[in-house]
Amino acid sequence: MAEKITLSAEGVLSVSDNPIIPFIEGDGIGIDIWPAAKLVLDAAAKKHGKKIEWKELLAGQKAFDETGEWLPEQTIVDFRDYLIGIKGPLTTPIGGGFRSLNVTLRQVLDLYVCLRPVRWFQGVPSPVKHPELVDMVIFRENTEDVYRGLELQAGTPEAEKLRAFLKEAFGWEIPDMSALGIKPISKGGSERLIRAAIKYALDHQRESVTLVHKGNIQKYTEGAFMKWGYELVRNEFADVAVGWDDCGGKPGSKLLVKDVIADIALQQVLTRPSEIDVIATMNLNGDYISDALAAQVGGIGIAPGANINYMTGHGIFEATHGTAPKYAGQDKVNPGSVLLSGVMMFEHLGWTDAANDIIRALEATIADKIVTYDFARQMEDATEVKCSEFGSAIADRL
Ligand code: NAP
Repeated sequence: MAEKITLSAEGVLSVSDNPIIPFIEGDGIGIDIWPAAKLVLDAAAKKHGKKIEWKELLAGQKAFDETGEWLPEQTIVDFRDYLIGIKGPLTTPIGGGFRSLNVTLRQVLDLYVCLRPVRWFQGVPSPVKHPELVDMVIFRENTEDVYRGLELQAGTPEAEKLRAFLKEAFGWEIPDMSALGIKPISKGGSERLIRAAIKYALDHQRESVTLVHKGNIQKYTEGAFMKWGYELVRNEFADVAVGWDDCGGKPGSKLLVKDVIADIALQQVLTRPSEIDVIATMNLNGDYISDALAAQVGGIGIAPGANINYMTGHGIFEATHGTAPKYAGQDKVNPGSVLLSGVMMFEHLGWTDAANDIIRALEATIADKIVTYDFARQMEDATEVKCSEFGSAIADRL
């Protein structure tokens, strides 16, 4: 009988061979990529004696059409209850004050880690000479920084009130008709993100964690993130990890924790990718780095992601691209992003053999030059197939 995934008192997920996993199909190209990815996930699970009981949850356009709400309360209740889920992309309805559904889900479930592994798969077309050197895992903070959305529109009474207060309390002169935003970076929020990155690096035998920040300019926000990170290493991980300054860059057998300024980081990931391994960073830096890195290994059609709270056990694995409305319903786009998000989910559940099988089958499909349009336009002699055909080709090679 299908069972819920649960979290033990020790913080370990308990997953049966027949777990119930909620999914959101997603808007736009969600109707194309989700069935293609599901076919492969189900086939890989079956090969290893497992069966997922998929439970559809509503969000986005489909939810609005059926319930009149973009994100029904029941969807949040179910994600909370079933712990682990997967989703396709969701439209952000345009309109004053409307928050992105993705951001809302991350915030209500306090999914503080946005996890984005970036690696190259053999045969995938890339704009760089050595995409095989790119093998990084980004831990991007999900709940603070600009994602808090604490902004005031220029010229509104609220903005004027804050501007007047800042002048009175701190003597800060800000021109009128200024838009104002608040960038909160807390000690607790920074620590839990960096702690998760260090634990991941230790669990996966990675060599280093790089804290990416702009602390030379924003000393008390981004600079504090770095400082709290190094303090955390000394206070909680001294036996297994060491900060750069405490070892002169020579960590011995320990995990090295180092830092780099955000603008230089974008250069280094391109010019010396093998020197950067796990990355821990705040929201906006993480946003830029994730997409820049994804481009190096084949683009967003194949970039997976997850939003996780390691303390409550909640995780939503998701395609990192949007709804690409111009391609919706054409059975054309690459299902790789949501499929590889499913692979990440399998790894997270401890289904490593099934996850590895999918990666091998994906690589074999690309090696046979069977690809969707996005890769075909960059490859010579490729056979361009539909989204569903690409899914079937991967499933055939499992
Ligand atoms: P987008 O949907 O990501 O599409 C931008 C371009 O990326 C597409 O035109 C296509 O490039 C390429 N692309 C996206 N998915 C692909 C796939 N599976 N395979 C191959 N190529 C793919 O970005 P957008 O047009 O800016 O956003 C559309 C909507 O999505 C907006 O409502 C936005 O709010 C929403 N969105 C949602 C999420 C989310 O749910 N996580 C994330 C981002 C945006 P080419 O045209 O070059 O082929």
